Amino acid sequence: MSELTEDEIALYREAGIIAHKVMRKAKKLVSKGRKLKYICDTLEQEIMRQGGKPAFPVNISINQIAAHYTSPIDDDLLVPERAIVKIDLGAHIDGYISDHARTFLVGGTKTYQQLRRVAELALEKAIEVIKPGIRPSDIGEVIENTITKEGLTPITDLTGHVIKRWKLHAGISIPNFKAKMDFFAPKLKEGDILAIEPFVTTANGSREVKDQNYTYIFSQNGSKAKSEDAKKLLEKINSFKGLPFAIRWLEGLLPETRLFEALKELISYKTLTRYPILLSKNNTPVAQAEHTIMITATGCEILTTG
Ligand code: MN
Ligand code: MN
Repeated sequence: MSELTEDEIALYREAGIIAHKVMRKAKKLVSKGRKLKYICDTLEQEIMRQGGKPAFPVNISINQIAAHYTSPIDDDLLVPERAIVKIDLGAHIDGYISDHARTFLVGGTKTYQQLRRVAELALEKAIEVIKPGIRPSDIGEVIENTITKEGLTPITDLTGHVIKRWKLHAGISIPNFKAKMDFFAPKLKEGDILAIEPFVTTANGSREVKDQNYTYIFSQNGSKAKSEDAKKLLEKINSFKGLPFAIRWLEGLLPETRLFEALKELISYKTLTRYPILLSKNNTPVAQAEHTIMITATGCEILTTG
């Protein structure tokens, strides 16, 4: 039996449909020369227009950037002429979260096309085997085998995750490889909500990622603040209820230099957790595909679909 009530399931479904609809907008928006900030802002507004709130900032991670890029306040970057663009977005309704990613190609090469196709295939194959009693490592094994059979490399530093109310990453990870650690061993059950998200890079690419020195996404992890500026920021940050947020969402609260000083203070007290931009280790291009699913009595239901 599912631990979720019918009302809760309805809210997860609604959040999933919003993510799906907004992703269709993303497909139209991602094109050569478009401002990244315009794409992030527009998609986040669209989530709200559809009756949700962003569960986290819209991520737009291009080429060798695997994850966690969202536009900073003054972002002049444009979609380049040749690009493999991962859009990763999610909605929540009262803490019931969806998480959905697709890869779009701009002036796509054969390599980019293959990366995208295999990311989608690995997601599809993983979804086919999900049912009560399956273990995260079993799902990871399917993802890894699908990707390596195509001669490509899974990025195993990045994982899917169990979702709970107000918790985007609720403890259990869904690996992108056959992980032998006990951590990945607990059996999943009916009513579990999972985000499955294979990341694929080229044959000569690495399974690892590296941090870039920039962070535009944070989440709240405590409440210590000393300066008046930091307290002011924290008041706003409290409204995100622990879900990830973008620096961009704090624009206008304080003049920019003071905003960054206050952020530094909150990071030093560990009041904020950083999510630095992640790159493939050898700067090889990356594709991603992600759905949020709910485990049912006999299999699973894809929530982030039409
Ligand atoms: Mn995601
Ligand atoms: Mn995710």
